[in-house]
Amino acid sequence: ETNGGDGSLVSAKVPPLANPLAEKPDEIASNISYHAQYSPHFSPFKFQLQQAYYATAESVRDRLIQQWNETYLHFHKVDPKQTYYLSMEFLQGRALTNAIGNLNIQDAYADALRKFGLELEEITEQEKDAALGNGGLGRLASCFLDSMATLNLPAWGYGLRYRYGLFKQIITKEGQEEVAEDWLEKFSPWEIVRHDVLYPIRFFGQVEVNPDGSRQWIGGEVIQALAYDVPIPGYQTKNTISLRLWEAKACADDFDLFLFNDGQLESASVLHSRAQQICSVLYPGDATEGGKLLRLKQQYFLCSASLQDIISRFKERRQGPWNWSEFPTKVAVQLNDTHPTLSIPELMRLLMDVEGLGWDEAWAVTSKTVAYTNHTVLPEALEKWSQPVMWKLLPRHMEIIEEIDRRFVALISKTRLDLEDELSNMRILDNNLQKPVVRMANLCVVSSHTVNGVAQLHSDILKSELFASYVSIWPTKFQNKTNGITPRRWINFCSPELSRIITKWLKTDKWVTNLDLLTGLREFADNEDLQAEWLSAKRANKQRLAQYVLQVTGESIDPDSLFDIQVKRIHEYKRQLLNILGVIYRYKKLKEMSPEERKSTTARTVMIGGKAFATYTNAKRIVKLVDDVGSVVNSDPEVNSYLKVVFVPNYNVSVAEVLIPGSELSQHISTAGMEASGTSNMKFALNGCLIIGTLDGANVEIREEIGEENFFLFGATADEVPRLRKERENGLFKPDPRFEEAKKFIRSGVFGSYDYNPLLDSLEGNSGYGRGDYFLVGYDFPSYMDAQEKVDEAYRDKKRWLKMSILSTAGSGKFSSDRTIAQYAKEIWNIEECRVP
Ligand code: PLP
Repeated sequence: ETNGGDGSLVSAKVPPLANPLAEKPDEIASNISYHAQYSPHFSPFKFQLQQAYYATAESVRDRLIQQWNETYLHFHKVDPKQTYYLSMEFLQGRALTNAIGNLNIQDAYADALRKFGLELEEITEQEKDAALGNGGLGRLASCFLDSMATLNLPAWGYGLRYRYGLFKQIITKEGQEEVAEDWLEKFSPWEIVRHDVLYPIRFFGQVEVNPDGSRQWIGGEVIQALAYDVPIPGYQTKNTISLRLWEAKACADDFDLFLFNDGQLESASVLHSRAQQICSVLYPGDATEGGKLLRLKQQYFLCSASLQDIISRFKERRQGPWNWSEFPTKVAVQLNDTHPTLSIPELMRLLMDVEGLGWDEAWAVTSKTVAYTNHTVLPEALEKWSQPVMWKLLPRHMEIIEEIDRRFVALISKTRLDLEDELSNMRILDNNLQKPVVRMANLCVVSSHTVNGVAQLHSDILKSELFASYVSIWPTKFQNKTNGITPRRWINFCSPELSRIITKWLKTDKWVTNLDLLTGLREFADNEDLQAEWLSAKRANKQRLAQYVLQVTGESIDPDSLFDIQVKRIHEYKRQLLNILGVIYRYKKLKEMSPEERKSTTARTVMIGGKAFATYTNAKRIVKLVDDVGSVVNSDPEVNSYLKVVFVPNYNVSVAEVLIPGSELSQHISTAGMEASGTSNMKFALNGCLIIGTLDGANVEIREEIGEENFFLFGATADEVPRLRKERENGLFKPDPRFEEAKKFIRSGVFGSYDYNPLLDSLEGNSGYGRGDYFLVGYDFPSYMDAQEKVDEAYRDKKRWLKMSILSTAGSGKFSSDRTIAQYAKEIWNIEECRVP
């Protein structure tokens, strides 16, 4: 009669339910009414949009819970090997459209809501985005969950329940401002708190050696991890998996009633407020100094809670005698970047200090269980934690890490004398006296059974550069798993018009789960009927986007112009600055033209969006520049019917769902070798949007798949970049006159009085990171402008453009996260389908 660590009843009888699986609009409507009246969250006598949204969501949730329970019981009975995807970030976005779409009940819900005089769309608009992530890495984790559920894989996600997600971006005259994003302001109808799933998490304290030589970690402060489950439904399957998010809680005992009664109100609840801090905010992705200890606490909190939960479930599912060597045959742990690296020493600690295993046995279990995905080669993003800080916070883990390091050094000294010179860089501990650190990526590489990159080029760079020395020791440890995106959210639900056309021409809707079928569109790429339908669907999406832009910026944009979009985090390596410099040059040329000449140009609307990390000054200057350029260009009557520039505020998942379907050209123009993969490039390509881009990350594979004639390529290649940087340093770089002209134009003050000199200076000089044009904007500028001219020319030929657009969608099959996840399942996790009957 257990309810284990999961809070779901395993062998007790589940009582019969009122019908949560209602299919008919009438029944659904009464279900919604039920929630509106009996939900404790609102007054029962009001039924406005907000209440209607929550009641609708709760009625969908009933069904999800039903399916979630069935899935859990089925996994429990079959006891398959199960994957646990550990990630500090999940960028889930909204859940309602996705849930009713995956359950295939959107029409029934739309009909039910109409009975109250409501449109489904206005209800879905009420939902706040769950933005528990910074960008690509977090959104990848969310796409992976959708694919795991859809492929009926026994797999769960583990993350943190941040009180405030990624900040909300407001654009003012000063540029970007950040405001806390209160996604839990009312409550989230999608999470189910599991009051019985609670684990103790220790910080600080000391290590005690027992008489038998075993060790235990004692003292310090202990808080609790409480589970919240978010059910994740698969597409047209009963399988509904879990995203388990941990929240930090202090114990009741930690409230000091004596101090409180003595009037020392804050001291009385110190642990409560420390616990609260742990899950208060999503830590920004880019490296910063502030709050390091808190970030480390967050990471350990995720790792410890998840591993205690995994071990508890593993034990609960054993019947009869069993052995720890079975653990890796039942459990796969995937680390999404180095953020959950502490899972490695934590699993070692739990196995040795709690379960009583010896080092060798614990190491065999751990290293067969854990696999690591690398997401970046940017040196500043490779995590290194201060050894003194770690000794203080996690003394037992540091002992274990030292021992892993010692054994690694011994291995190399014994077997690979040829690597002695490289050993100091390969070691986990950097014992440099000024700043001793633990290198988390090295700990992952040494301890994991598999290490993967996220696009072919990135994986090649990992093998030939970052992790080259390890490859010679463990040649089979390194793999590539090119990222993917879920076609459910990223075309089927966000662009239903285009999806209907695809289904009609392919004569099947099976492409939604077998995206390779899209190649079937190739034979119709020239077909006039398909082209006409394609054009009208894209046009409708453009109109919807134009309306959105008007609503959030007050700017009206012309759906007849070319919609050119760059949306992603603002970062110098992503080169929004290259984009806006190109726009500035275009503006200047338009100004110089006669009215007649202007008429022969291709009208464009350039949209740029993305959040700059709050203390990343140059990124914020770029946001300000884009906005300033927009103000000048858009109000210039000579030019504004040929060019508009819009900064789209507060880019997030639901904004992406409007922008991507309405796009025609998108920019993925990072300095080659710096973007590990990118995933928005895949979303745009799938939606028939052409790419202007460098040979970087997954762009390389997208171009291969959709055909090089359908991709606007420019720029240096990854292997040329080091040489080009050297040449600049030696003063050998001669800038293109167009580049000089664009910069001079900004310096002339046309775009206002803001001081853009620091930004422009970063493109000049000849040395240093972030100066001396480290990102090669000047070098790539001429080929970028040439590629833009080819874009203008192609767009003037409507038939040609439509054909390219259709071929882009047709060639995007490879980029389904179903393909990615199937590869992880087979080649890394060794797990199989476990479908709920
Ligand atoms: N942010 C959001 C809201 C997204 O939806 C995505 C992916 O589509 C990204 C960031 C990542 O974008 P990119 O791959 O261009 O860096």
